[in-house]
Amino acid sequence: MTIFSKIAAGEIPSYKVAESEDFYAFLDINPLAAGHTLVIPRHVEDDYIFNLDHETYAGLWEFAGKVAKAIKAAIPCKRVGVAVLGMEVPHTHIHLVPLQTEGDLDFRKSPKPSFTPEQMAATAAAILSEYEKL
Ligand code: AMP
Repeated sequence: MTIFSKIAAGEIPSYKVAESEDFYAFLDINPLAAGHTLVIPRHVEDDYIFNLDHETYAGLWEFAGKVAKAIKAAIPCKRVGVAVLGMEVPHTHIHLVPLQTEGDLDFRKSPKPSFTPEQMAATAAAILSEYEKL
């Protein structure tokens, strides 16, 4: 099991943003911006998004699109940017990052913004609340 499978199963804590039977979304623990979210398939552990079967691939992007709408509604931003890297964690995931400028999608950003656990929990709750309205 990958660390992200354990997060989706609730075995490792995360700041949940949205979930469905097959997919899970949670805040990135080292965010580029407030509301930076990771979207994952629960049960697929391939680490390369373009290796997913068609159904999982299409479902993941559809779910990510809904989550992006919830992020846009909850977090003041111009757009929600998308990135797929997978250089660190070997479990397919999509980054959704609220953007004010294109620099907000720079993974080499230093220093990165830091948030208290209370701020992270409040951000996740705000996005989840918008997701549940969709
Ligand atoms: P990458 O695999 O290059 O897309 O990077 C993995 C991302 O996962 C990084 O942005 C990390 O901050 C994030 N990450 C790693 N472990 C956790 C975790 N336990 N909870 C939330 N985010 C994580």
